Amino acid sequence: MHMRRMPAFLLAIAMLMGGGASALGYVDPGTMRSGSELQAGTLDRTSIAVRATYDVKLTLRYEAGTFSADSTMRITNESGVSIDRLELNTISANLGRMRVRTATVDGSRVTPRVEDMTLHVPLGGVLPNGASATVRLVFDATLRSGTAGSDWLFTRNTGIITMYRWLPWISRERPFARPSFGFPFMTRVSPKVTLQVTTDRSMKIATGGRRTSVTGLSQTFVAQNVRDMNIAASPWFQVLTGTVNGHTVQVFHRPGGPGQAMLDQAKAALTRVEARLGTYPWPVLTIANSSSRDYGAASPGSIWLPTGVDTSSLAYLMTHEVAHQWFFGVVGNDLAKYPFAHEGTSEFMARHLLGLQRASRCPTSRLDLTIYQYTSNCFYETVYVQGSLFLDTIRRRMGDSAFWRGVRLYMTERRFAFGSSKVFLDTLDRATPLDLRSLFDTRFPSYY
Ligand SMILES: [Zn+2]
Repeated sequence: MHMRRMPAFLLAIAMLMGGGASALGYVDPGTMRSGSELQAGTLDRTSIAVRATYDVKLTLRYEAGTFSADSTMRITNESGVSIDRLELNTISANLGRMRVRTATVDGSRVTPRVEDMTLHVPLGGVLPNGASATVRLVFDATLRSGTAGSDWLFTRNTGIITMYRWLPWISRERPFARPSFGFPFMTRVSPKVTLQVTTDRSMKIATGGRRTSVTGLSQTFVAQNVRDMNIAASPWFQVLTGTVNGHTVQVFHRPGGPGQAMLDQAKAALTRVEARLGTYPWPVLTIANSSSRDYGAASPGSIWLPTGVDTSSLAYLMTHEVAHQWFFGVVGNDLAKYPFAHEGTSEFMARHLLGLQRASRCPTSRLDLTIYQYTSNCFYETVYVQGSLFLDTIRRRMGDSAFWRGVRLYMTERRFAFGSSKVFLDTLDRATPLDLRSLFDTRFPSYY
């Protein structure tokens, strides 16, 4: 680790010149480093309240199932206090056997520590509130080849590459291992991501961004206000495009797959959900088949649907994933700690809007637990199915107009920021003269 301090003789010269001398008669050597706002010292303090833009060059090797990334983050500390390290989350670290080749902050080398799926990056000094720095990470990773466990998130399988949470991102450290299939991520919105992907063969690439240029085998995508920039790519994808309410919808599907049905359902779902939750905030919605046979996933501006999804469940799955564009994309939350905040809500949107409410196949249980506390058997039946029924009870108690007013208030007040299960429930409570807390307390005993 390189603690960057000004050499003593330079400090002496600075003091003789008197430039920037404080009332105490010395110059903080950290403030004298040219071109950097970092100051000398250590705090052992981090924060997720760091604004970051990402400028990334990705080399993706389909044949080898590997990639190399060169990511330049421009960070600004918005936490209100000084920090001296970042916690960057990426499953390249644990699933991808990530190897960091270069890590620098304002051009000086630092040594990140990789633990589980978190990269602890020392800034090499103290970054005061409001100050900015440039963090560059160059790393290699290897995709998995199967889809068992969580591997489907990060694999090349049956002709499709899926890379979820592959880019180290401003986050909070969370353990990856969990008994349920809940997502253990908490990522902060980035105002801008520029991603250039260069592939070793011609490929169709689905991301949450808008494609801005193509040169040979390089494609550039730009996204704004996103919490992630996930990729599904395949040489074999076929692409269909449509528009709905002024948004472009694209479908990247397997040859022979139900591409047209996916496009129709995506348009229908976007129309349905937008009518309830407000305008979809990104220019494009991209749907892609994932490597998984079982799981779908959402990230801002993009959705993965499992392959082989039968057309009878397409409307339900699509509506659930489209609802995540709001409950996770627009309003984020700690996905590990508050699965109800994005899963219970998105499931409610799908089941309510499609008239698919049904009884749960697991005993009635708490909705305020973390993804580490539910069993894999009952995670879906509790958080999703019971969560959906619970919200329907609240909706009927409040009446439709107050209920949807409360939901939209949550979207407006927490737009591109973080909410939580409790913030969501409290917002509903504020939208009605009724006292809902007696309904909340049995299912969310840790909050009420
Ligand atoms: Zn979901």
